[in-house]
Parts: sequence; C-alpha cells; structure tokens
Amino acid sequence: MKAMVMAQVRDLHEDRNPLKLREVPKPAPGEREVLLKILTCGVCHTELDEIEGRMPPPKLPVTLGHQVVGRVEESGRGADKFKIGDRVGVAWIFSACGSCKFCRSGRENLCADFRATGRDVDGGYAEYMTVGQDFVYAIPDVFSDAEAAPLLCAGAIGYRSLNLTGLRDGRKLGLTGFGASGHLVLLMVRHQFPRTKVFVFARAEKEREFARELGASWAGDPDEPSPEKLDAVIDTTPVWRPLVQALRSLDAGGRLVVNAIRKESVDQDYLMKLDYPAHLWLEKEIKSVANVTRADIVGFLRLAAEIPIKPEVELYALDEANRALVEIKERKIRGAKVLRVS
Ligand SMILES: [Zn+2]
Ligand SMILES: [Zn+2]
Repeated sequence: MKAMVMAQVRDLHEDRNPLKLREVPKPAPGEREVLLKILTCGVCHTELDEIEGRMPPPKLPVTLGHQVVGRVEESGRGADKFKIGDRVGVAWIFSACGSCKFCRSGRENLCADFRATGRDVDGGYAEYMTVGQDFVYAIPDVFSDAEAAPLLCAGAIGYRSLNLTGLRDGRKLGLTGFGASGHLVLLMVRHQFPRTKVFVFARAEKEREFARELGASWAGDPDEPSPEKLDAVIDTTPVWRPLVQALRSLDAGGRLVVNAIRKESVDQDYLMKLDYPAHLWLEKEIKSVANVTRADIVGFLRLAAEIPIKPEVELYALDEANRALVEIKERKIRGAKVLRVS
C-alpha cells in the first residue's frame, strides 16, 4: 500500500518535501483490532512539531496522521464491535493503559502509557491502518468523509479546551489564533453559549475576516487589547507572544487555556515581558490542554452532529501532504486541511 512516510526530522524551511511517498506492507489486524481502508485524513499542526523535531516520534520511519476516517475492511480475532463496511474514525488517542489512576478516573489523556496515532504508531497518511476496536468511533451520517476528519482532532481538542475554560453563557471568550480548532470552537460556542461574545486575535487579515463571517464580535491583531475584558481565552498559536498579550485582556479571575502540544522557541524571550500585576495578578489562571480522551471525541461528535457543525475543509491528494503542511507552516489557513486518500 502507499503511505506518506516520515523518515527523519527536517526543517521545513530547508526541505519542503519532508515526507516521502513509499510502498509499504499493508498491515494485518491483531486481536481485537480492525483494519481500516482509509478515506480521508486531516492534516494537523502537530505533524509540524513531529517533522521539525519539537516532538519527534520515538521510532522512525513512521506514518503520520491522527484524524482518520475509514471503512472497516477486516476484523481481527475478538473484534466484534463494528461490521465490515462501517465508517469509523481514529483520533490522536491510539491507546492508554486502562489501569492507572488517570485511566480509572476518566483522565486517560494523562496516562503515562498514552500512545498517539501517527507518532507512536503508524497513522492515517496511508491507504490502510490497524487500530484497537475500543479506540474507534462511528462517524455520524450527517458528515462527509472530508468534514468528519478535522472533527476528530481540531474539533475534539477544541471541545476539551472549551470545557476546561469553565465558560458559562454570557461570559466573554477570547481565541488567540484562528485555525482549524479555533473556527470549530467559535461554531460550538454560538450554539452552546448564545449570549457569549467571542473575540478573536489573529495575525492574518484573512483569518480575522473569516472569524467575523462566522460570528466573532471582534477580530484584531494579537498585539491589540480586546475592546472588552475576557473571562476566558483559548490559545491555539504555536508561539509565546500572543499568549502573553492575551493575558492583558483577561479579566480578574479569568482563565487562559493553552491548546498547544509544543510551543516554538522563536519568540520565547517574549515571556520576559510577563508583568505580574498586568498579566497574572487578581487570580488569573493558566492551564494547558493535553491530548484527548475517548469521551471528548464521542461527546464532540454527538454535539457536532446535533448542531450540526460542518467544518470548512480544503482537500489535498495523499501525495500532496507536504504542500498542505507547508501551507500550515506559512499560515495559509482557512478552515481545515484534509487528505483525500480514496
Ligand atoms: Zn491534531
Ligand atoms: Zn493509564
């Protein structure tokens, strides 16, 4: 089968084709696993963190991709949850131990044995993959194959981030960065918290326009303070400056939720501008989001189908994965990028 394989850590500025199209053996499903014929796979900023070495996969080569939509083609021994032909999704959580204190308390995202799809095991930039049946989700019919893919990461992690803000209807929310996750959070907020105003900080005017089109009350540059104080902010940028700037706009008792698996070091010195009275005093909080649980994915898919949330997607062929990644790096983003595999 064909796969876009990551063989080594690369700097995307020097190498615009870090992934290579290779012929690799088609996997066979093990016990309680299913074999999926992949239809689509979303492209995520996390893949840049892997390729550029901020979060290198533990073993190379590996096939990236953790927002996978496919059809069950074969079931391994004891795999009885899904029928052949069922359309299902795979997300960032590939497996967790199931027995540690985190797994037993619904926090499997924090498990020390958390294994990530497309990092610790081969993911969805390929024609087929295998996965345990307990880490697979039925995709509601209301979504096309392409629409479903970004829901599995950007959507699910946006859902987790929004829950972690503790936001209530009518309270004000800020979003720093407006990529795949930000735009899905905005759609979710408009449904769940209709009286909440959303303020978007984004560098590109195109992103700000997109935010206003989707119902943001205000969209401006990350260096501008928002016109109203914010009760919560979700940061989805890969850098530090917007995070520090957003803390100024946070109201007393407000919470900043950082939805980033790694931050780039390019502007890390901006953290020295952190001014305790302006940025942190008055019980402001900073909290990070780590991974997702299966409950996040199931909960978000249910909510997204009910609203319904239809993400804006841009389609690429499997062998165009490098172009999609470079465009994310260069912030040519509108909605979510998705590989159409078959
Ligand atoms: Zn992702
Ligand atoms: Zn565990």
